[in-house]
Amino acid sequence: MVDTAPALKVAIDGPAGAGKSTVAKLAAKRLGYLYLDTGAMYRAATVLALRKGLSMEEPDEIAEAVAQAKIDLVPAMNADGSPLLKVFLDDEDITYEIRSREVSLMVSPLSTIGPVRDSLVAQQRRLSQNGGVVLDGRDIGTVVLPNAEVKVFLTASAAERAKRRMREFEARGESVAYDTVLQEMLERDKRDSTREIAPLKKAVDAHEVVTDGMSIAEVVDKILELCANAKVHERSRRELI
Ligand code: C5P
Repeated sequence: MVDTAPALKVAIDGPAGAGKSTVAKLAAKRLGYLYLDTGAMYRAATVLALRKGLSMEEPDEIAEAVAQAKIDLVPAMNADGSPLLKVFLDDEDITYEIRSREVSLMVSPLSTIGPVRDSLVAQQRRLSQNGGVVLDGRDIGTVVLPNAEVKVFLTASAAERAKRRMREFEARGESVAYDTVLQEMLERDKRDSTREIAPLKKAVDAHEVVTDGMSIAEVVDKILELCANAKVHERSRRELI
């Protein structure tokens, strides 16, 4: 049977450590959609700048390097069958490197550079143009895909988010004190939400989901429910045209 369900654009935004990429990846798998972790793209751009020895005093050079680089997100699978998104910079797998603390500290300043955002947003829109996509980030519902049929603003208390981030660092063998993780995360959120271009902000038409006390499966189910409603809505809208 031909699947006539509309291919939606799903935007998931929210602060650091809210669990966006975990649930977005699973929701995309269940929907059979392409998943784009836009934070991973800004992280890849940061790896590039660090490798080239560029500092934040050289925004034009960073933007030029990003414009010339090839950043690819490739769906893959973990050994347990769970979805994984591999990140490549000029065909080199940098999936592990992008999550280092060094990258986490520089990514937010780097993502305030307008021309860097222009390159990455253009790529994000190009990959989303036919729908059937789940994007997560900070400005998806507001700037990248303002016409997305489903917009979710995912958040959780700062304590919960810092605990999650700390566990991620621990899993990498990087031991960082809870207070340090919390403080660095809050600084990143502040910079992301107060920057001039495309700040982290809940879109007016986004559904806010506070994930404290919710399991990953519950959050994914909630997103799928919003998508099912949007499909019904979209079908009747198209029938009226
Ligand atoms: O999602 P993640 O925490 O990996 O994102 C890393 C950083 O990339 C964010 O703190 C933010 O500075 C930047 N970012 C952004 N716009 C997006 C996604 C991420 O500015 N759409």
